[in-house]
Amino acid sequence: MKRKKYDILIIGGGAAGLSAAIAAGREWKNGSITIGIIDRMPKTGKKLLATGNGRCNLSNADLSPDRYHGSCKSLLKKTETFSVPGFFDSLGVVCEDDGYGRIYPRCRSAASVLDALRLECRKLGVEEICGSEAKEIKRHRSDGSVPMFALSADDLYIMSHQLILAGGGRSQPSLGSNGSMLDICGSLGIKTAPFFPALVPLKTEPALVKPLKGQRADANVMFCADGSCIASERGEVQFTDGLLSGICVFDLSYLYEEYRNSKCELRLDLLPDMDRNETESLLKRIREIRRDTSPDDFLSGIFTRPLGIYILKRLNHKLPETTGKITDTDLSGIVSVIKSLSFPVIGNAGYERSQVTGGGIIADEFDDGFAIKRIEGLYACGEMLDIFGDCGGYNLDFAFSSGALAGRSAALKAARWL
Ligand SMILES: Cc1cc2nc3c(=O)[nH]c(=O)nc-3n(C[C@H](O)[C@H](O)[C@H](O)COP(=O)(O)OP(=O)(O)OC[C@H]3O[C@@H](n4cnc5c(N)ncnc54)[C@H](O)[C@@H]3O)c2cc1C
Repeated sequence: MKRKKYDILIIGGGAAGLSAAIAAGREWKNGSITIGIIDRMPKTGKKLLATGNGRCNLSNADLSPDRYHGSCKSLLKKTETFSVPGFFDSLGVVCEDDGYGRIYPRCRSAASVLDALRLECRKLGVEEICGSEAKEIKRHRSDGSVPMFALSADDLYIMSHQLILAGGGRSQPSLGSNGSMLDICGSLGIKTAPFFPALVPLKTEPALVKPLKGQRADANVMFCADGSCIASERGEVQFTDGLLSGICVFDLSYLYEEYRNSKCELRLDLLPDMDRNETESLLKRIREIRRDTSPDDFLSGIFTRPLGIYILKRLNHKLPETTGKITDTDLSGIVSVIKSLSFPVIGNAGYERSQVTGGGIIADEFDDGFAIKRIEGLYACGEMLDIFGDCGGYNLDFAFSSGALAGRSAALKAARWL
């Protein structure tokens, strides 16, 4: 078994871990403390490469706490003191707003972002150990008052004065984060809120969505529980095998966890820029224009043809053979379907398809510097915490900024022991 020893060891080389390593290393540019980073994957940053469809939406111009969920929202007042675009600027990565507040690297390349992080780690002398999974952490106090942790990872035994936990959640384990670090937290007695897949497609009755497979529609989407609207988001809904997806559905998906014992449904307003009266007038006008056509063509100038046909089917009522003969009563029914097309929510697509994991280490466990209060020398950052944000760069911003603050805290603490 190989043995190693560091002043600071970071477990997890994702967004949070790499940023923690850089922040710690920058506090000690003279290299007088040793910093290691261990990752179970063959290389660090695998998930980062997949973010923003390979373009890496790394922050947002509006980091309002309203866009985050979970007990660790209380830590946002700390992370908002750290500028993620400023951090990347210091690495030579130019960032820009895409016009909707989403901040990307100008080159739109997640690979360039990862390269910049790795280059800086190398420059600061951070040692990378890849392909080793942390299995067990034990606390020792062999050097008097200085804490010491022992980590077992496959064929490695690593001692470190301080540990930064940056192992991510349970989402998309093929990209690295398999939840093993959250399990280790449990074994250290660190309290966590229950985990669940967030930013995830929602499941509906397969037969109900089958005719729409492959279709997309702009809609205002309402998440309803027992008939009451809980929240809504505007955006493009995508219909796939038994699933509704798209950013607006992702952003509402956490509500299924909260209301899973209620009757949940998604209601789609397919003409969100028109009220009911305007929709009815529009349909009456088109009924005139297309009076001699089959009802199958009635709505094809407003929606894709399959969606138009589907809307009429959901009326559950046989229509006359020509559009012109559709009665005002049926037309009013069609308006109701368009303004409130309902799909029951019967589950979500699970961790394999979720972008982030809800739940994690609760806020009460932390001090301001992302240190675990009850265990001296231990820190945690990124998706391991009980917080996640909406789509739009919020999750990476939190991972980079909490990582940097944890890294800086650990480095400043190390100063006391030198
Ligand atoms: C497909 C996809 C696209 C996304 N796009 C965006 C986006 O554009 N913008 C945005 O803000 N967010 C996005 N997210 C979410 C964002 O990627 C995550 O919230 C963020 O990466 C979390 O960073 P992290 O460092 O905490 O965890 P991770 O990035 O998950 O890193 C954790 C690391 O720890 C390692 N690890 C885990 N357990 C162990 C162990 N026991 N021993 C050793 N190593 C371990 C893993 O291999 C991994 O490398 C996306 C997520 C996905 C899945």
